[in-house]
Amino acid sequence: SSPAQATSSPAGVDVERRLLARIPGGTQLLSKRPEQFAPGQWPRFYARAKGVEVWDLDGRRYLDMSITGVGTCVLGFADDEVNAAVHAAVERGSMSTLNCVEDLVLADLLVELHPWADMVRYARTGGEALSVAVRLARAATGRSAVAFCGYHGWSDWYIAANLADSRELDGHLLPGLDPAGVPRELQATALPFRYNQPDDLRRIVADHGHDLAAIVMEPVRGNNPDPGFLEQVRRIATESGAVLIFDEVTSGLRLNTGGAHLTFGVHPDVAVFAKALSNGYPMAAVIGIGAVMEAAQRSFVSSSYWTELIGPTAAIATLTKHRRLDVGARLTAIGVRVQQGWRSAAATSGLAIEVSGIPPLSHLAFEHHPQATATLYTQLMLERGFLAGKAFYASYAHEDHLIDAYLESVHEVFGLLAT
Ligand code: PLP
Repeated sequence: SSPAQATSSPAGVDVERRLLARIPGGTQLLSKRPEQFAPGQWPRFYARAKGVEVWDLDGRRYLDMSITGVGTCVLGFADDEVNAAVHAAVERGSMSTLNCVEDLVLADLLVELHPWADMVRYARTGGEALSVAVRLARAATGRSAVAFCGYHGWSDWYIAANLADSRELDGHLLPGLDPAGVPRELQATALPFRYNQPDDLRRIVADHGHDLAAIVMEPVRGNNPDPGFLEQVRRIATESGAVLIFDEVTSGLRLNTGGAHLTFGVHPDVAVFAKALSNGYPMAAVIGIGAVMEAAQRSFVSSSYWTELIGPTAAIATLTKHRRLDVGARLTAIGVRVQQGWRSAAATSGLAIEVSGIPPLSHLAFEHHPQATATLYTQLMLERGFLAGKAFYASYAHEDHLIDAYLESVHEVFGLLAT
């Protein structure tokens, strides 16, 4: 099939109308709400996905050069190896009454990859797993407050901070989002700090150190940490008695087969994985030192679907293939090519852009009329058969010839945007 030429989707329009009537916001993911899209942007529904190819309800084919399944499909959509394992698990039957051995196999594998960790618990989404980690940290320390940096999902412990006007501290909290339904009392326990700003954290410790249960952050966020930053955070956590939790939901499995913190050589007390861990199937893991993880015995951390067969099966298959093929190195190589391609297309066309992010998680910004130009870029790329936006998350399925085709269109579109 050929790349898409048109952006309207007659079949999709009807489904969209029905969906909006039945599901508040029409989606389960805030960033997919219709109001987040300019008219004529990405199709809202897909029929099928394979590798980085996606087909919409009208049979048009696109190449996903955006964030590949909201950062989940690090091996590509419907990866054959992961799917074969999942198919076999489906045939065996997934159930939760008894434990599956895969829970143990995966725990052993995660600890082998992260030798500082002793024990593992599971959830099925990143937000859930972060809540588990925070519950464990609070149970282990007997404290309440949590310092955090970055986005950590929809849970009360974290989103309560958006009740404060903390936008200048954190670009990830959506402007204007007032999370109705979150108790105002929690605001006092959710304390934001800025990445690469250890003094923010020192201030929080000075004011709340005696009640600080956890410091939650992504080890890498956008660009690399400043030299010594992660080491300083580690020291502050140890000295204040707070549990250091690295949120590896998005950063995990990008730079290596495991947490990005392995690359930076700084170990947390707890690390949380989801998204890429299971390449498209719901799975999340909380790994940590025994002194924190054992607090699960004294707290309440339990859910029926946290113990079933499909999630751990998908994660074992994903980690196994990822490690065998050194997928982290490949993702970096792909990201470097894309960043170079953006820069060279911008230089040729005289378009002012800013490129940021570690190569596997690359970001593109336009200097003049940033939002309007980004919208136009997405529309012009869509006409050429690409799902493309301000972020590019590399997938193992981004084969060289697909990157070639993408960068050729980027050159052409940057030329149009510059005029
Ligand atoms: N933490 C980080 C760093 C994330 O990027 C996300 C999702 O984008 C989450 C947590 C929440 O994970 P989930 O959407 O699986 O609940």
